[in-house]
Amino acid sequence: MQINRNFLSLKENYLFATVGAKFTAYRKAHPEKNVIKLSIGDVTRPLAPSVIAAMHRAVEDLAHAGTFKGYGPDQYCYGYEALLDSLKGSYARKGVKLSSGEIFISDGAKSDLGNILDLFSKENTVLVPDPVYPVYVDTNVMAGRQVLFADATEANGFLPLPDESVKADIIYLCSPNNPTGAAYDRAQLKAWVDYANKLGAIILYDAAYEYFIEDPALARSIFEIEGARDCAIEICSFSKTAGFTGVRCGYTVIPDTLEREGVLLNRLWARRQATKFNGASYISQMGASVVFSEQGEREIAENIRYYRGNAAIIADCLGKLDLRYTGGKNSPYIWMKCPRGMKSWEFFDYLLENANVVGTPGSGFGRNGEGYFRLTAFATEENTREACRRITELLDHHE
Ligand code: PLP
Repeated sequence: MQINRNFLSLKENYLFATVGAKFTAYRKAHPEKNVIKLSIGDVTRPLAPSVIAAMHRAVEDLAHAGTFKGYGPDQYCYGYEALLDSLKGSYARKGVKLSSGEIFISDGAKSDLGNILDLFSKENTVLVPDPVYPVYVDTNVMAGRQVLFADATEANGFLPLPDESVKADIIYLCSPNNPTGAAYDRAQLKAWVDYANKLGAIILYDAAYEYFIEDPALARSIFEIEGARDCAIEICSFSKTAGFTGVRCGYTVIPDTLEREGVLLNRLWARRQATKFNGASYISQMGASVVFSEQGEREIAENIRYYRGNAAIIADCLGKLDLRYTGGKNSPYIWMKCPRGMKSWEFFDYLLENANVVGTPGSGFGRNGEGYFRLTAFATEENTREACRRITELLDHHE
């Protein structure tokens, strides 16, 4: 018996588990302190009323023999047509035409980001932006794949562009980016699409935060870019768009013509899903199916506005303190340079102990994240304001 020894190459803990453990230990030692978390990217606003109503209707369906649902429909890998139609409509409004067979409903982006690697050989070389959401690197390390990094730094606005001297087979892009909040415009994405098509590489495009985009120059789907249907898979989620982090529903788009070595990747994924997945719950899918209705969009826009307001509060606070940061626009994340040359974990401890505010150390997202820190706009407005008041008090007095 042999275990998968690739796991031994991972850092001992998933980043957010380490942050959580430090938070819990501090709270235990100081139960009287009110610690504010501007760390994990979880939402706090309740679900939209139309989503709740749709989920209630779905529960009622399950209560009666005539409307009861078991496994989802086989035809579209357990995705219900109401949801597929709504997603097709949402993509059409971005100028992207999709067929139902190109959209695979999932229980969230994280699972699909890991699972999609089943389609690719271990021999492939993977290119991952640094810093980025740790799941891309960790899932590839688990599979024993070689990972190269594309440096995202202040010099390139945290938006690396293709380096012709690098030969990659699988390219991850995350836009708007977690953790830097930077988002690609269409011309920059076109450069990636052209590069991937030239190499015959596949882009895994994580659009989990696309709904935060306000700037019309930025793409909300990679399929807005000419040539993307020949090289891209898009992975997205209702988690941040509509507060589904606990409900669980996402979707992965694989064009039905996308092929490598004469094999259609859409068909490979359908085969993979039919074997290893049994669908997202009917209740989640029905809730998701109204997110892009007129009323649903109006309601979720209200929540997004709330988070954008928090981002503006944080940005304003850092700006007044003369601290360098990016993000906070087109993104729920603010990526700040740690003050006074502090390292990421050093600043984490400093902020936790002196302001009772928790953020996420940038170094946890990659080598280039050292010396940076991520704050999120997902807390309540009250907590965001209070955290900013404490940060200001701490850093204003000590500069
Ligand atoms: N992709 C990125 C970039 C994320 O930051 C996250 C969650 O924070 C996810 C995917 C996971 O989304 P889901 O809740 O759909 O699994």
